[in-house]
Amino acid sequence: MEAIRCEGLTKHYGAIAAVDGLNLVIEEGSIFGFLGPNGAGKTTTVRLLTGLSRPSRGKAWVMGEEVTPTSVSLRSKVGYLPEEPAFYNWMNGREFLIYVGELFHLPSRENKKRCDELLEFAGLSEAASRRIGGYSRGMRQRLGLAQALMNRPKVLFLDEPCSALDPIGRREVLDTILRLKEEATVFMSTHILADVERICDVVGIIDKGRLVIEERTEELRDRFAQPIFELHLEGEAHSITRLLQSLPWVAKVEEEHRDNEAVLHIRVSDVITAKRELPKIVAESGLILLHYELMSPSLEEVFIELVGTRGEE
Ligand code: ATP
Repeated sequence: MEAIRCEGLTKHYGAIAAVDGLNLVIEEGSIFGFLGPNGAGKTTTVRLLTGLSRPSRGKAWVMGEEVTPTSVSLRSKVGYLPEEPAFYNWMNGREFLIYVGELFHLPSRENKKRCDELLEFAGLSEAASRRIGGYSRGMRQRLGLAQALMNRPKVLFLDEPCSALDPIGRREVLDTILRLKEEATVFMSTHILADVERICDVVGIIDKGRLVIEERTEELRDRFAQPIFELHLEGEAHSITRLLQSLPWVAKVEEEHRDNEAVLHIRVSDVITAKRELPKIVAESGLILLHYELMSPSLEEVFIELVGTRGEE
């Protein structure tokens, strides 16, 4: 079943189209990474999909229900963690979650049970009686996740959940999101590519309010990013670089020098030929090979290729 659908979703702020004709379909059970540079329209999209903002044009549906700012039943299906969640710093973690449960009208016993479950889930059981004002940023984000899950939402919207965190905090929050897979569909906006690569099944790339691509993370990487061979050769390697640049299966060669080594990054259009031919070419050149590696392409290159190309256009 579809968890999220939008058709022609558009939001204008004066002359600016923050979101411009967005069409998306996200299947239930996925972790969707909504990736884009600053100002691309990610927060605006999340606000439109959660009913916090009204579109200038177009429509959206969450779990089959049309998104409107006044829909009460939609609120019971959706959880939302804003980019900078606000807490009452004088409350402790448990008090805050109980308070959120009360806002959702959870019966007292169920509220306490859900609160304990989520404190455990978010790794905050031990800190439950401490004031939120003393929590680290990572703990605050995990409390925000727990808060967004109090009503057992079917779809969880997370706006840049890791952008302000250090590597350990990020890892803990990402691991927590990954464990949600059984429970909810996750829509996560981010500009951090590594986070998408780590946990998202599907990625949508947005730039200047428009969706550039929507695809399974692995397929995207395989389809767009050209494989790169890295060679380290002793001394200088201008002659082999020139030779490689003339071959039809070589797309691009970059050469840099480190100490007494030449490091070549060779992008190819035909991996099978490259695997067969490259070692022979090195052997025939008489140069001394220090290192040979076929590097797996990263999503970063795909992102730069897609967003960079559009920008130039
Ligand atoms: P960031 O990663 O920097 O948070 P974003 O991808 O979330 O960026 P948005 O915050 O959705 O981007 O903004 C998209 C565009 O819409 C930007 O040009 C922004 O300046 C503009 N914008 C967003 N909200 C408003 C508003 N309330 N009034 C006017 N312009 C706005």
